[in-house]
Parts: sequence; structure tokens; C-alpha cells
Amino acid sequence: MIRFENVGKTYEDGFVALKSINLEIKQGELTVLIGPSGCGKSTLMKHINRLNNPTKGKIYIRDKDIALADPVELRRKIGYVIQNIGLFPHMNIAKNVAVVPHLLKWDKQKIDSRVDELLRMVDLDPQVYAGRYPSELSGGQQQRIGVIRALAAEPDIILLDEPFSALDPISREQLQDELVRLQQDLKKTIVFVTHDMDEAIKIADTIVLMKAGEIVQVGSPEHILRHP
Ligand code: ADP
Ligand code: ADP
Repeated sequence: MIRFENVGKTYEDGFVALKSINLEIKQGELTVLIGPSGCGKSTLMKHINRLNNPTKGKIYIRDKDIALADPVELRRKIGYVIQNIGLFPHMNIAKNVAVVPHLLKWDKQKIDSRVDELLRMVDLDPQVYAGRYPSELSGGQQQRIGVIRALAAEPDIILLDEPFSALDPISREQLQDELVRLQQDLKKTIVFVTHDMDEAIKIADTIVLMKAGEIVQVGSPEHILRHP
């Protein structure tokens, strides 16, 4: 589904964030990128939606070189969730969730029913929450909205960069469970960044272990546990 071929990234200040990455991310799997802070996880992930561009090598999505894709188009097709999700404070929850469908000019009815469906999926009653503003929600609820906003236009690929790390342990476990359930139901290709091995083992189909801009191991959670 997503393929990195000899991808290197040197930032403008000369820092080599990725050395020569070769990686195949499989369709319908939840792949977790893990490694210590600063090892290049976010940098690697941002290459998938072209928030970063490689200084060498190529990235393919379904065998298409993404260097030839329009970055704006690409970002509409790829869900993206980061830690401080940045819900738009002046928009209510329904509007926040509908940002991408709105850009894609879905008709109003289709948008409304999609918003309802998504809120129910994460156990938030649309009657209660659709009209509220982000500041009226807890951190865990806001993060749920971040996740369903990324799912709204049914992208095939979803990128999550430490989405739950600012949450209390209970909300965090709930959201991990929800994500695994969504993944099993929807069969999306999900790439998830974390530095927490327990989280990785709990949710991953495949774990990609990184260190200092390189991939040091790839395997199932069972494999990683057996070969530490
Ligand atoms: P991780 O997600 O694993 O914590 P990052 O991919 O965010 O790591 O960063 C990898 C390295 O690249 C870090 O040392 C970071 O300081 C550096 N880095 C990230 N963004 C930039 C940038 N825009 N310019 C220069 N260096 C950067
Ligand atoms: P590159 O040098 O890899 O082309 P850019 O100059 O495009 O990177 O972007 C530098 C940083 O700015 C990225 O790492 C990303 O964090 C941020 N950035 C760029 N475009 C966007 C965007 N559309 N939304 C959010 N962040 C962005």
C-alpha cells in the first residue's frame, strides 16, 4: 500500500533525520512506528502526506510515486491526527467533523448523516454533542473528535502521531480499544506513532522499531517480544 525506497531526509540545517529507509506498509494493517524521542518517527510519517519531502529516495502509494501527486489533494485523501488535534475553536463539533466532506462538497444531508454516524461510533450522542464547541468537551472527548474527523471522508489511509499521549490513562485505554475496534471493522491502513511499547504491543499488527533515523526491526508484537 505504502512503500518507502531508500528514503533519506536531511533538514535544512543539515540534520540527517532519516538515513535510508526501506519500508512496506501493508493495506488494512495497523502499523506502529516506535522508537525514542527524536529518532525520526514523525519525520517518516509526514513523508506519507508530503508535510515533509524526501531529500533522496521515493515513496509510493499503490505503486504511484507521490512526488507527482498534488500535496493538497493527497492530504484530503489521508486522515491525519496529531497530539494537540487543533479542533477549530469557533466551529461546533458537527462543523469540525465535517471539515473535509465540506471541502469535498458533499451535500448537506449526506454530511449530517455521516456526522451522526461518526459521533455514535465513539459513543457521543449527536443530540448532545453536535452543537457543542470544543472547549465544552473533555480532553478525551476532543481526541475522539480528532479521530473521527480524520475518518470523516472515508480515507483509506489514516496517520496518527502520538494522538493519545496527552490523555489520562483511562481515556487513553478506552481510545486504544476504540481504535482497534474501528480498525477491525473498517480495515483501514493505519500508521500510528508512539514511544510507548505497551501501547504498540496492544494495538499493532506490525511494529516498526526505529533508532537514530534508521529502522532496526520490523515484526508482529509477538515477534518483537521474542527478539528484544
Ligand atoms: P520523533 O518523532 O521520533 O520524536 P522527529 O521526526 O520529530 O522525531 O524528529 C527527528 C529529528 O529531526 C529530531 O532530532 C528533530 O529535532 C529533528 N527535526 C525535526 N523537524 C526538524 C526541522 N524542521 N528542522 C530541523 N530538524 C528537525
Ligand atoms: P519539507 O522541507 O520537507 O518540504 P516543509 O517545508 O513543507 O517540509 O514543511 C516543514 C514543516 O512544516 C513540516 O515538517 C510540517 O510539520 C509543517 N507543515 C508544512 N505544511 C503543513 C500543513 N499543510 N499542515 C501542517 N503542517 C505543515
